[in-house]
Amino acid sequence: MEAAQSLQLDILAIAAHPDDVELSVGGTLIKLGRLGYKTGVLDLTRGEAGTRGTPEIRAAEAERAAELLGLSVRENLDLGDARIWANEESRVKLVRVLRRLRPRLVFTQFWEDPHPDHAHTSQLVREACHVSGLAKYDREAGQERWRPSCIAYFLFPRTVAPSFIVDISETSQPKWEAIRAHASQFFNPQATEPQSRVSTQAFLREIESRDRYFGAMIGVENGEAFFVREALNVEDPVALLTRRMNMYS
Ligand SMILES: [Zn+2]
Repeated sequence: MEAAQSLQLDILAIAAHPDDVELSVGGTLIKLGRLGYKTGVLDLTRGEAGTRGTPEIRAAEAERAAELLGLSVRENLDLGDARIWANEESRVKLVRVLRRLRPRLVFTQFWEDPHPDHAHTSQLVREACHVSGLAKYDREAGQERWRPSCIAYFLFPRTVAPSFIVDISETSQPKWEAIRAHASQFFNPQATEPQSRVSTQAFLREIESRDRYFGAMIGVENGEAFFVREALNVEDPVALLTRRMNMYS
């Protein structure tokens, strides 16, 4: 990975815990990297409140997963697991990262989520992306203002219809390698630590089914879904709306 100072990212995925991004948009990040886009991940906490693993183990796992995802940068804001709040202190920290990495597009978690970290991440990211574009906000840091063009949300409730789905059929396998890099968190019959919902085999099957379900919605094997709040500005509706290849099937 390069020195973070020199980056101008195309996409930055921001999530609360070190494995959230892999589970939700790992296939999309790998795909975008292969298309030549510069991708990055910002984890907001070190996951120290998780049932399994330690912050040190989880940091090493996140680094390994970053390689598998083909990221240009992965950083951790260390806001405190189960303690993410959309307050001024966290917002300034996040704005400084946004102004340094300058992502054109941001992926983050949906605002309606039972885990308060996920819900607060969503609010914090939306607010930070906005104030980061205000020239006089946090002027003392001496950074140029920066506002990403769009935020696309992932991990939303089943009652919300996706705005778009990315075909990840070709990057599903490396996505699973990146998920398995977080070995302390997921199913392992030899583990001696207490069980949690995410450490069951059923949880991984659920993720697998979710990707297949979203894939089925667009007629491909695996997909990852996104929700966009604002209306999309489409330059070429013909190119966009003729993506379905098997129009007679
Ligand atoms: Zn999480």
